[in-house]
Amino acid sequence: MIITGDALIGGKAVTGTGAGVRAWNPAAGQAIDPEFRTVDSAQIDQACRLADEAFDTFRALSDDKRAAFLDTIADQIMELGDVLVERVMAETALPRARVEGERGRTVGQLKLFANLLREGSWNDVRLDKALPERTPPRPDLRMRMIGLGPVAVFAASNFPLAFSVAGGDTASALAAGCPVVLKGHFAHPGTSELVGRAIVKAVEICGLPAGVFSLLTGVGNDMGIQLVSHPAIKAVGFTGSRGGGLALMAAAAARPVPIPVYAEMSSINPVFLLPEALKNRAEDIAAGFAGSLTLGVGQMCTNPGLVLAIAGPDLDRFTAAASSALVGGAACSMLTPGIAGNFARGVNQLAEHADVKTLALAPQAEGKGAPALFVASASSFLSQHALQEEIFGPASLVVACKDVAELRQVAEKLEGQLTATLLMDEGDLEAAQALLPVLERKVGRILANGYPTGVEVCSSMVHGGPFPSTSDGRTTSVGTGAISRFLRPVCYQNLSQALLPEVLRDNGSATWLRREGELTRN
Ligand code: NAP
Repeated sequence: MIITGDALIGGKAVTGTGAGVRAWNPAAGQAIDPEFRTVDSAQIDQACRLADEAFDTFRALSDDKRAAFLDTIADQIMELGDVLVERVMAETALPRARVEGERGRTVGQLKLFANLLREGSWNDVRLDKALPERTPPRPDLRMRMIGLGPVAVFAASNFPLAFSVAGGDTASALAAGCPVVLKGHFAHPGTSELVGRAIVKAVEICGLPAGVFSLLTGVGNDMGIQLVSHPAIKAVGFTGSRGGGLALMAAAAARPVPIPVYAEMSSINPVFLLPEALKNRAEDIAAGFAGSLTLGVGQMCTNPGLVLAIAGPDLDRFTAAASSALVGGAACSMLTPGIAGNFARGVNQLAEHADVKTLALAPQAEGKGAPALFVASASSFLSQHALQEEIFGPASLVVACKDVAELRQVAEKLEGQLTATLLMDEGDLEAAQALLPVLERKVGRILANGYPTGVEVCSSMVHGGPFPSTSDGRTTSVGTGAISRFLRPVCYQNLSQALLPEVLRDNGSATWLRREGELTRN
């Protein structure tokens, strides 16, 4: 398949009229053809209007038909074969194994949502029959979920497949019956076009309205703000910087009709090294930590950017082992010059900070990220909020506490996070129990004796958390729970069988239903 540099608006390839950008090969340090021109206001408007027009037809499809559409997208992505894998590698400098693994995850999550639709519980059908004899009489009441409407999705830079054009936000929005207008990320525009064309092909094969999916090309804050402000758009999915997420939240709130923004922004994912575990296996923990910190050049939302432990010889053993594992680490290409620049700035700030000591600093290079490890006291951390700022890349800060009470005090001071990790042995149970209520308030996923990178895509996963890890900690952006972001309930009171949606009728196709409050399988 040839990459043309076009946007895909309602199934048609359209050339933007604004400024042109080329993809960047971070490993080779050179631009890649073709040029992608930025779409203009009229083109954004057209994509949004077509999405609006497609909404009623798309959401009225049976669960089986929408599931077949998601499966077809997955098949079309696989059909792209090595052309896709090689383009991702060229645009991101990610190794083949990672790209192939991420493609598997992308296809897997589309199929997971297809299975969710076939299983049917997402409809959340509730039936409460009329009670005419009651005083006052109760009407016939029935409820189900429907999609919110067209969703603007902002592709993430750091997962060019699994959180980009056909990634988690797109899959969950389409599963909910919501058309998607996608702003591609300039870090991988060729990848975006290939995957966008696969979705367009799936739309054609399944005979759906063309406005179900559009891909917008180009760069510029204005473009994103216009998209979020468009009256046809009813929700937003975003993964990226805190600044970007906040700007989109502000734009969504300033609309005449405000809409929800599901932004995943910044998280430093604290790792708690509890005393017994540290005493028993400081060196093993250091090896696992170093692996997690440097995975994907640290460009992971769940990267362990903060380590919390009690000061003493066992923590010294951990920092010595972690430092020696990290200091020899090579500088590797980062996804974009912007991300590399942010990383370099963050590392320099910590290296020059009066209250921070550098433990390991592998030789850095322009456009690249090399591992870095720092340490600060709990009192410095508690008094300086800037030490909590995310450094997106392979850098982490160890915070040395006096005792378990201070560890808990630091936990209390943390901002909202995607994850918190407990490295613990049996003797640490009491300390873990003391931390748990604090962590439950602070994070979306608590894990024991593992590392936070590596997110399973399944029904119990929570990839979310309180602000600023996300803009709305009530949901997840990974796993089947992500569909709930784009749904809302509608109640039907005393509607005749002919008027009711099929799934709510007396002999309807609902597989799971809550009859008089009791959950049953039909
Ligand atoms: P980004 O700068 O937030 O950009 C993400 C998307 O949002 C792009 O499409 C961008 O498009 C748009 N955008 C950004 N700021 C905007 C604004 N003020 N108004 C409207 N649209 C806006 O993220 P990035 O390019 O992926 O990486 C930059 C930094 O984000 C990284 O260095 C890292 O700190 C952070 N990041 C964090 C995570 C995480 O999971 N925690 C993931 C990725 C990145 P335009 O630039 O075209 O406007």
